[in-house]
Amino acid sequence: LIQGVTARNIDLHCRDSFPPCMRRMFSKLRETHHLKHTGRMQLGLFLKGAGLSLEDSMQVWREELTRVVGDKFDKEYAYNIRHNYGLEGKRVNYSPYSCAKLIPTLPGTGEYHGCPFRYMERDELLEFLKSAQCGLSDAQAHNVLEPLFRKGEPKHYHVACRAFWHALHGADPTTDEPIVHPNQFFELSYRARH
Ligand code: SF4
Repeated sequence: LIQGVTARNIDLHCRDSFPPCMRRMFSKLRETHHLKHTGRMQLGLFLKGAGLSLEDSMQVWREELTRVVGDKFDKEYAYNIRHNYGLEGKRVNYSPYSCAKLIPTLPGTGEYHGCPFRYMERDELLEFLKSAQCGLSDAQAHNVLEPLFRKGEPKHYHVACRAFWHALHGADPTTDEPIVHPNQFFELSYRARH
């Protein structure tokens, strides 16, 4: 388990080590103070896998959601957070979702879950990768998108995601395993930094 992800330092971890899918959801949570159910599930389980304790998770979500849902946070939303940590309902310790589960999950209007490499158009992706959420240069962003838009080939999501990882950390042939899980991305990134 990764140590050190807390309510206080989570924004730094997002900037340094979150994969694109989780950057997008977490940034939208900070910006709009809300995420719809599927986004809350995907991001919440990822954060749990990234080492965020139940107490800190509650703090992060409460701080944002109460601005939009007020008292409903304690009545409805807190239950789902405890549920993710296996403390409610069937008491299952739910695992964070893999890329295989995220990629087919397309977001509707006002939703931000799923894999941006799958659901965003090329121009939107370029803008996203160069925005403060990701912080890539124009050349880095084009390089990340190359595996997605090869003529006559299917989109290689995991290759694009690894290219994003390399844009953050520099090329390292010893860590070239494909990205198949957002928490794998995070853990490889965390290890590269510590
Ligand atoms: Fe997230 Fe996986 Fe898509 Fe990367 S490939 S952005 S880790 S869902």
